[in-house]
Amino acid sequence: MICFSNVRDALDNYFQSWRVHKHCYICKQSSSQLVCRYCIEDCALPHFASPGMNVLDQPAYADYLIAPYYQQLFVLGEYRELLQKLISQLKFANKPLVAEVLAIFFMRFVFARISLFEDIPDTIVPVPLSNRRYAKRGYNQARLLSRSLSRMSKIRHFDALKRIKNTKKQTELGREERLNNTLDAFALCRPISCKHIVLVDDVITTGATINEACKAIVKVYPDVHISVWAMAIAPSPKR
Ligand SMILES: [Zn+2]
Repeated sequence: MICFSNVRDALDNYFQSWRVHKHCYICKQSSSQLVCRYCIEDCALPHFASPGMNVLDQPAYADYLIAPYYQQLFVLGEYRELLQKLISQLKFANKPLVAEVLAIFFMRFVFARISLFEDIPDTIVPVPLSNRRYAKRGYNQARLLSRSLSRMSKIRHFDALKRIKNTKKQTELGREERLNNTLDAFALCRPISCKHIVLVDDVITTGATINEACKAIVKVYPDVHISVWAMAIAPSPKR
């Protein structure tokens, strides 16, 4: 039987050991940091008007998203260029370390602003993967992201959700099909005690998946404030 705390510790040790870096993950230049300061400052992230601002206040994106069960959505940028490359590596190229890279950018460009102007969540919850996809990939990229973000932000990490339905790949489906595919796909797997949860996922497209995950929480805890942190959002059709 797998002991998940051991797996977690092994991953943490792996990241810890990587902190004695030899090169920057982005530019490959010699660096003691996983992302060198030049790449952080001159970062080639896709242009995004306002990282750290609530996307739900930006009609170009919000009008396209499925009516949310969450109150705030913060993303690093649009799903293209460097962000698309990094997220693809994380999801499809067996590179779990990229979660740490994305979390570094998220802390620098999004959390830095949130921590000044917004209410800080007290609990970080990853969007769970289906058992079938977890078995294939060997890790849940949203969980790696949320653990890195939890460690960097010092916000408690809590696996509160489980998948109760195997869903098809959302990328293969249209907007309406995505809605039906993820409908009632999640449930709470343990009680939570918090006022403000942040759900973490990699990419938001229509918001169908994240919305159903939030719905599972709202059904049991209607008064909990829910934010979403995602590494990227699909480019708005209006821009
Ligand atoms: Zn660099």
